[in-house]
Amino acid sequence: MGTRPKARPEARCPIRPGEPCTLCQLDVTGPQDCGLVYLVMHDDELREGLHRMSAPTPPPADAPGTDGRS
Ligand code: SF4
Repeated sequence: MGTRPKARPEARCPIRPGEPCTLCQLDVTGPQDCGLVYLVMHDDELREGLHRMSAPTPPPADAPGTDGRS
């Protein structure tokens, strides 16, 4: 009776939320040694922008039900 090999967890790209790491940078083994991830995560403005991008989008101000009236 054989055991199935465990699948390795898929690394996620912190720069592209919800997407897997595709090793798009040269000489990287994943997000842990990705220079782009390092640069973005160590820059306050870029990190904040990334968090804004990955946050759920609020409905437009003129959407029905957003002004207190129906
Ligand atoms: S190499 Fe870096 S930028 Fe490219 S997908 Fe992986 S984590 Fe994201």
